[in-house]
Amino acid sequence: MKDRLKKEQPIVYQTLKNCLKQNRLSHALLFSGPKGTPKLQTALFLAQSLVCEKHQGFACEECDSCRRVAQATYADVIMLDGSQKSIKKEDILNVQHEFNKTALEADGHKIYILNRAENATPEALNSLLKFLEEPSGESTIAILVVEEMDRLLPTIISRCQILPFRPLDQESCCQKAQQQGVSEEDSFLLSHFIKDAEAIAQTAQKETYQKALAGVRYLLSHLLQMEEALIWLQSEVFNDRETMKETLLLFIDLLSAILQDTAKQSDCSIVWIRQEMARIRSLQIDQSRWLLILLSTRDKCSRPFHMGLLLDQMILEMKEVLG
Ligand SMILES: [Zn+2]
Repeated sequence: MKDRLKKEQPIVYQTLKNCLKQNRLSHALLFSGPKGTPKLQTALFLAQSLVCEKHQGFACEECDSCRRVAQATYADVIMLDGSQKSIKKEDILNVQHEFNKTALEADGHKIYILNRAENATPEALNSLLKFLEEPSGESTIAILVVEEMDRLLPTIISRCQILPFRPLDQESCCQKAQQQGVSEEDSFLLSHFIKDAEAIAQTAQKETYQKALAGVRYLLSHLLQMEEALIWLQSEVFNDRETMKETLLLFIDLLSAILQDTAKQSDCSIVWIRQEMARIRSLQIDQSRWLLILLSTRDKCSRPFHMGLLLDQMILEMKEVLG
């Protein structure tokens, strides 16, 4: 974990390293960052580092204490998970009650990890932070793991030391997705707009994605017969009202990804994408206007528009740009 953290999140790595070395870790930490960044893993790794029997900064990940934290059997490291249901004040009070009984482990540190803390009630977070600020809470540390920081009250945020996790770049995302068995083509395309390998793997298996991809390929190979392409798209791709919105969003994201790469003159190892990029360039299409049309259609998708009409309008506007 140490090496992964150093490579993927160098700022978080350095901050924690310094704090552990100088023993000046805040009692309330806030790990904030998008889905797919290793916030929870880092929270557990920090908990291990605090109770590790080797006391050498970062955790050894091998001693009995480190192993028990990883197996969730270390009594003084408690995780409350807000990813499935909200964390309530009673949940916090129950843990405090347990912690107060005895120092359960020899080490003396007590660590709360609140996963998806934005799903905790403000009362729960307030009662936890208030306790940490009291002398009795001195050996206790809380790590709040959040994906949507704007859902936390400013009064909560201001009492925590914030460690921002930056999103993975496209290339690392693409590599990770491939390690999870996603094809090179799907990983490459999806990593343009999904920055989480697991979510990429899930999307790649969806029928809506397969349809949207087929639609993009058809449209790109019929750039000079856009009206024909539209008829095909209506009957073969956007033929299910239930999934039409999802398919249209994926269609827009995929097409935008290819257009952006074309505009950036970037290279691509996937043959058909490279060929389509060359074709778009040779037709001298105004890519920025196409991207604007896609963007404005994407925006309208979140409002109660008729998806079929949105598609028709989008394709016809794109055709007008071609002249
Ligand atoms: Zn250890």
